[in-house]
Amino acid sequence: MASTTSDAARPYTVYTERNIDMIEQFRELPEAMQFEIKVVASVMPFRVNEYVVNELIDWNDIPNDPVFRLMFPQKEMLKADDFDRMAKLHAAQASREDIKKAAHDIQLSMNPHPAGQLAMNAPMVDGKPVQGMQHKYRETALYFPSQGQTCHSYCTFCFRWAQFIGDSDLKMAATEASTMHAYLKEHKEVTDLLFTGGDPLVMKTKLVKEYLEPLLQPEFDHIKNIRIGSKTLTFWPYRFTKDDDAEELLALFKKMVDGGKHLAFMAHFDHYAELKTDVCKEAVKRIRATGVNIRAQAPLTRHINDNPDVWVKNWQTQLTMGIIPYYFFVARDTGAKHYFEIPLFKAYEIYQAAITQMSGLGRTVRGPSMSAGPGKVEITGITEVNGEKVFVLRFLQGRNPDWCYRPFFAKYDEEATWLDDLKPAFGEDKFFFEDEYKAMCKARGV
Ligand SMILES: *Cc1c(COP(=O)(O)O)cnc(C)c1O
Ligand code: SF4
Repeated sequence: MASTTSDAARPYTVYTERNIDMIEQFRELPEAMQFEIKVVASVMPFRVNEYVVNELIDWNDIPNDPVFRLMFPQKEMLKADDFDRMAKLHAAQASREDIKKAAHDIQLSMNPHPAGQLAMNAPMVDGKPVQGMQHKYRETALYFPSQGQTCHSYCTFCFRWAQFIGDSDLKMAATEASTMHAYLKEHKEVTDLLFTGGDPLVMKTKLVKEYLEPLLQPEFDHIKNIRIGSKTLTFWPYRFTKDDDAEELLALFKKMVDGGKHLAFMAHFDHYAELKTDVCKEAVKRIRATGVNIRAQAPLTRHINDNPDVWVKNWQTQLTMGIIPYYFFVARDTGAKHYFEIPLFKAYEIYQAAITQMSGLGRTVRGPSMSAGPGKVEITGITEVNGEKVFVLRFLQGRNPDWCYRPFFAKYDEEATWLDDLKPAFGEDKFFFEDEYKAMCKARGV
């Protein structure tokens, strides 16, 4: 449904699969393409707002425009037989109910919760999981506020898509700020809070404040760093300029910083095209003026940014704007992975070719990194040892912190796209962390 709120300086119009025909530019696409997009949009979450449609997408470059690829689902994102099944239902004008049922089957086959996220990461209090909290790495707790379980627009590759498809069992959400505060109060080992979603900045400032402001009290002195994960700079930069609670949000940022917290805005820019508008530049300036750091991360995805030149331009643009490049991710093993995935060797080649074109200021970006079950694993290099070609790997984060920053080796494999595909090198039968990780899984009943 198109929804308009009166609080924005410009009307905030949102398009979903129900009213996609209201997008003028969409109606001018070839009919076959319109049909395909609609078919896939009935399975994958689809949502785009008028800023993205009118300011970011270059409609003269369809289907190759990177923001178009980021927002509009493509036929190949579904497996061929799944696509055919849905296409038949659409062609026969099946009921919404039948379409939904078929879509649900397909969604469940797409690994909505990779890396055992729910069971392995939910912290327990009195034997019950704490809703909305994920605590995988000792220093850093993730919190998903229930009101931030959506985004201004939806990325087609998103691994959080299970949250958007209306299956409440799959949601990772919390209801109360107090849950978050209670947990953090008890966990003095946590120095970093990662406040994420969806996108928590879809929430009104008033609500964001309820979560963050109490952290200035002395019982939260151990929480030194607060990160806000948000793609709002791409999707709705007016959140920091003309929205009626923009000033209040910036004042909150400043208050947190003045109160002694490191507040890091974890932005997500897949492509430099997302940074091109004046309003985005203005938003970045305003955020930085509060003392908040902006760091940027994004996954490497085929069709969107699988080219070193795109990354160089992306990181260079960020640097010029005062944004710190942070993580370069390997696309996760979920959703339309077959469409977006890139072999690990290729990911490394792209990263290496891009990072070597940056000055030291841009070499803060780490990767290619896989957020896998045991931890974040970086492909550090490809080399040959005693005639055997190998991947050099290391943990950037591990379920056991002691696993981190120890090089280990996997057999070189051009097909491998994820950690699970890799085999230890040098004839070893397992990786050094495997026994311990298996024991951790067993203890969690996974
Ligand atoms: C990436 C990630 C973090 C943060 O890791 P950093 O290396 O500190 O950026 C925390 N928790 C989870 C579950 C993560 O995937
Ligand atoms: S903004 Fe982030 S959480 Fe939202 S759809 Fe895109 S990748 Fe997913």
